[in-house]
Amino acid sequence: MLKTTIAGSLPKPAWLAEPKKLWPAWRLAGDELGQAKRDATLLWLKSQEDAGVDIVTDGEQSRQHFVHGFLEFIEGIDFSRKVKMGIRDNRYEAMVPVVTGPLRLKGRVHQAEAQLARAHIRRELKLTLPGPMTIVDTIADEHYGDKVKLAMAFAELLNQEARALQKDGVDVIQFDEPAFNVYMDDVKNWGIAALERAARGLKCTTCVHICYGYGIQANIDWKRTLGHEWRQYEEIFPALAKSRIDQVSLECIHSKVPIELLGLLKGKDVLVGVIDVATDTVETPQEVADVIRRAAKHVPAKRLYPCTNCGMAPMDRDIAVGKLQALVAGTALARKKLR
Ligand code: ZN
Repeated sequence: MLKTTIAGSLPKPAWLAEPKKLWPAWRLAGDELGQAKRDATLLWLKSQEDAGVDIVTDGEQSRQHFVHGFLEFIEGIDFSRKVKMGIRDNRYEAMVPVVTGPLRLKGRVHQAEAQLARAHIRRELKLTLPGPMTIVDTIADEHYGDKVKLAMAFAELLNQEARALQKDGVDVIQFDEPAFNVYMDDVKNWGIAALERAARGLKCTTCVHICYGYGIQANIDWKRTLGHEWRQYEEIFPALAKSRIDQVSLECIHSKVPIELLGLLKGKDVLVGVIDVATDTVETPQEVADVIRRAAKHVPAKRLYPCTNCGMAPMDRDIAVGKLQALVAGTALARKKLR
């Protein structure tokens, strides 16, 4: 009961990439970079194990950004020509590459880190991929001319990689869909269909992560406009509950999401965010246990997985470790009280 896990990313060590940045520059190149990525992956697997996290990830040490780490392995995208685009409904601007032709995978995307992790840990292993809707929202298109077609094309490629990851021994494949909070009608019209296409035929556990974003200023400003109750989840949870995805990962602690909305995810495992990634203050075990206890009123405890609100990529390394420990200590406390 109450297995712990994280949303996915962890901070990159300063010898691997610029610290505290969402799009950090690598410190090395070529074979040295490859080696450094592997070293950082092992370091974080060990740190998660030491902290006592049950379902661990590679910490996304091998990718520069959670979306573009996947896009780099796709043919039909021109990375030499990046254009400025407002993303997440113009919440912020990003320099994004352009789709210029039919999309095709160049080869495996996350094979190296998946196999490395599998060879070194006995715990359950989760690998994350960007979801089709979020990818479409983070790239310019000059070829498909239609968002849904483009999303389905990406979903096919995600499915290829996901099936291969399953063969590598990955237990959970999570698709990150922060765009699900932004385009609620599109989610119902085609976002979930694209997600299911990406997960088609998978026998391992499938998960979708939705959240209100990293703790960067643009997100903090956006959250201020959402009012004192955040009910975005209310619109999409009934549709997600009907989907074939097994788990939903969402933001909970320090957010204005009414906790009873979790009850709309009937039949799903819920990865409840009990660690805030937007603050450097490490949660106390009591705070963590309190969120779990409140969530347990709306989701059966056997379906609850204490988790972080979002990725910890732009965070200080020591603080991230402290938060992993708080996650586990708070969960242990909640377990005692729920028993
Ligand atoms: Zn997130």
